[in-house]
Amino acid sequence: MKTAKSRLGPVEKAIQARDAQAVLSALSTRAQREPSTGCLRWTGNRRPNGYGMTGRGTTNRLVHRTVAWAVAGFPGEMRDFPPVHHLCGTRDCLEPTHVRPATALINVLEASVRNAVFRRVRTLEDALRSLQPDHPALTFPPLAEAPEPLLRAGRVFETPRERLKRKEARDALASRRRENATARFRQVIEVQQLTATGTSERDALVRVGLGRRVYQHWANELKVWLEEDSK
Ligand SMILES: [Zn+2]
Repeated sequence: MKTAKSRLGPVEKAIQARDAQAVLSALSTRAQREPSTGCLRWTGNRRPNGYGMTGRGTTNRLVHRTVAWAVAGFPGEMRDFPPVHHLCGTRDCLEPTHVRPATALINVLEASVRNAVFRRVRTLEDALRSLQPDHPALTFPPLAEAPEPLLRAGRVFETPRERLKRKEARDALASRRRENATARFRQVIEVQQLTATGTSERDALVRVGLGRRVYQHWANELKVWLEEDSK
């Protein structure tokens, strides 16, 4: 007479051992790689809605949920794991890189929407800059720095490569802002030199090519910077 434990299949045994690699190996014996899509498609039993399943009774599990739960490190009970979505849209796929818990998927979506918005803003800023370089809207802090909580939330599932890319983008932005500030400071000093030698501020601004509001903003920035520098 066999005990309940010895009747456990390789998938349940791997789950009990909390061994994600063994779970994947055990499931892969009933799956086939689709070279054109990279999907690993389940060849075992299915639910009527097309999702692959394994086991029966109390050990009945949806295959793609099992994979996502295992890859996440078996947090809590599988039934409490968030809904799992297929990035490839293929319901019987169990390729680990194609399945994501909804929470991670939301982060991916947020990041892609955010990037699309920033790309659009940069395009519009560049267009405005070429038409009217001193437009006040261009002196606002860059949008890329505004939604910090959103950026922080997105970082939860960030890979090292993504983190490095973000650091590079941040450094490039900081460097652009420094260059912009230096160029503006030069213009402000030029205006101040001209007015000191008798040119009217209005004429000086025209000659240097600065709008009054931009000039006032950067003259103030320069003052603050000089004061900080002399501390
Ligand atoms: Zn797939």
